[in-house]
Amino acid sequence: MGIPLASEARLASIRDRVPTVATLCSHSSLQIFHGARLEGFPTLGISVGPPPRFYDAFPLGRPDRFLPVASVKELPHVADRLRSEGAVVIPHGSFVEYLGAEAFGALDVPVFGNRAVLAWESDRRKERDWLDSAGVSMPKLFEDPSEVDGPVIVKYYGAKGGKGFYLAKNRRALDAFTPTGPHVIQEYVLGTRYYLHFFYSPLSDRGYRVGHGSLELLGMDRRDEANIDELYKLGAQEELLKAGIRPTFVVTGNVPVILRESLLERAFDVGARIIERSIELFGGMVGPFCVEGIMTEELEFKVFEISTRIVAGTNLFISGSPYSDLVAPGLSTGRRIAQELKRGRDSDRLAEILS
Ligand code: ATP
Repeated sequence: MGIPLASEARLASIRDRVPTVATLCSHSSLQIFHGARLEGFPTLGISVGPPPRFYDAFPLGRPDRFLPVASVKELPHVADRLRSEGAVVIPHGSFVEYLGAEAFGALDVPVFGNRAVLAWESDRRKERDWLDSAGVSMPKLFEDPSEVDGPVIVKYYGAKGGKGFYLAKNRRALDAFTPTGPHVIQEYVLGTRYYLHFFYSPLSDRGYRVGHGSLELLGMDRRDEANIDELYKLGAQEELLKAGIRPTFVVTGNVPVILRESLLERAFDVGARIIERSIELFGGMVGPFCVEGIMTEELEFKVFEISTRIVAGTNLFISGSPYSDLVAPGLSTGRRIAQELKRGRDSDRLAEILS
């Protein structure tokens, strides 16, 4: 038996009924609804304004019903309605980003996963403490610009899609830059980026055992980031700066990737460490999460960020990935979430996967 995250009171609205899978119509919601439908759950799409018209083009991903709200910030006001619908809310990146970590944490509706993770993810320093103390290798952090001894990346707090990040080739270039808000100065890691889509199930008693359950790898992607990914076509950064163009990392899409098979052991080791430490720190991170890192030429995987819920890169694998196909054919992360909900319900262990 694992760690209970949800109280009896929290689960009262879904007691003795089939829960409705609900999420905000954005990000990875088509995948979430599609997976829920395959597992037999009713679905509810929360739309900002009228339901997005393009959902009509995807009948297998379109939710059964819509709940329009004026803005995402309105969500706490429809909590009663969501409870009366027997909703379980599936968080995704846009959901938490638009609503805000605090309001999401306080939402009075059963939520898939452990919402305590938000406090650790939304603060870059706390996130670093978690990963560092798990023994995960990370880019070096410079407390003071005078310590800088190579290329660095200056990052602002909060997920801003890498907007406004500054790359400095050396200390001199860093001195020439004046940050405009709270930020960190990190070693700029040279290598290749991989975004690993993991799923931690505290209910599973087979597979790659971690904590009270098991860890699955369901996919992997790399993000296309404008304008940095096309910089090479225009030449060195200085040339761009002369033209008044700053490199940005705004995600515009995703491409599938795989790791050399021999590196998978390292990938699982990183995922397992992060889960084990999360159990010690706050009762464990449950469900999908993404480890975002750079593999160096020495084959060291340096993690620069973790997303503690379903990431948009999983949309590549709605009908399975080279990894999830070896877990179950055609398995998406959205469907895996629904399977976990089903398993929790059938074994009366929902308190371990909802909060
Ligand atoms: P999001 O939350 O939307 O993922 P963010 O604003 O939190 O974005 P990061 O994910 O930390 O920003 O970084 C954005 C991009 O910057 C990464 O995808 C990667 O391309 C690049 N990057 C981040 N950290 C490093 C690093 N230490 N070395 C090299 N590149 C980096």
